Amino acid sequence: MHDGGEHPVRRFEPGGDAFRWNAVDLMAYKHGGRAPFRDVTRQTLFKGPDMRSELRYFEVAAGGHSTLERHEHTHAVLVLRGLGACLVGTGVHRIGAFDLVTVPPLTWHQFRASANAPLGFLCMVDAQRDRPQLPDAHALEELQRHPAIVRFLAGVPVG
Ligand code: MN
Repeated sequence: MHDGGEHPVRRFEPGGDAFRWNAVDLMAYKHGGRAPFRDVTRQTLFKGPDMRSELRYFEVAAGGHSTLERHEHTHAVLVLRGLGACLVGTGVHRIGAFDLVTVPPLTWHQFRASANAPLGFLCMVDAQRDRPQLPDAHALEELQRHPAIVRFLAGVPVG
C-alpha cells in the first residue's frame, strides 16, 4: 500500500527498460485473464485506504498494446514517455509525452506503443471500480466499420 507512511518519498530510478520508482513493485499488467495484450507492465504509484483514486503507471514496450476494453469508470491519462496511439470510442489519436487522454465511461479504448519507442503513461482511476468488459464479435464488427480503427488494430502508425 503506497500511502506514504513508510516512504513519503519514492525516488525515480532511471536506467532500466521501464520507468521505475524505488520500492514500487513492477506488476504483470493483468492476471489470469483471457484479455489480449502485449508487453505491458503496471506499477501502482499511489493508493490508500483513505483515497478514492489510485494512480498507476503503465508502460507499453515498443510494438506492444493494452487490452481493447471498456468499463464504467473513467480513465484520466497523462503520457509520460514515448510515442504511440490510442483508440477512444471511434477516434484514433497519435499521442506522445505530456498529452492528456480522457476515456469516458463505457467507451472502448486501447493504447498502442509505436514500433520503435515505448509508451509510458500515468492513469488515474477510482479506487472502487467495475471490471473491464471485452468486445464481443458484434462490438468488434461495429468498431471495424471504421477504416482508421482497422488500421489502428493492425498496428499501422497513426499519421
Ligand atoms: Mn481501461
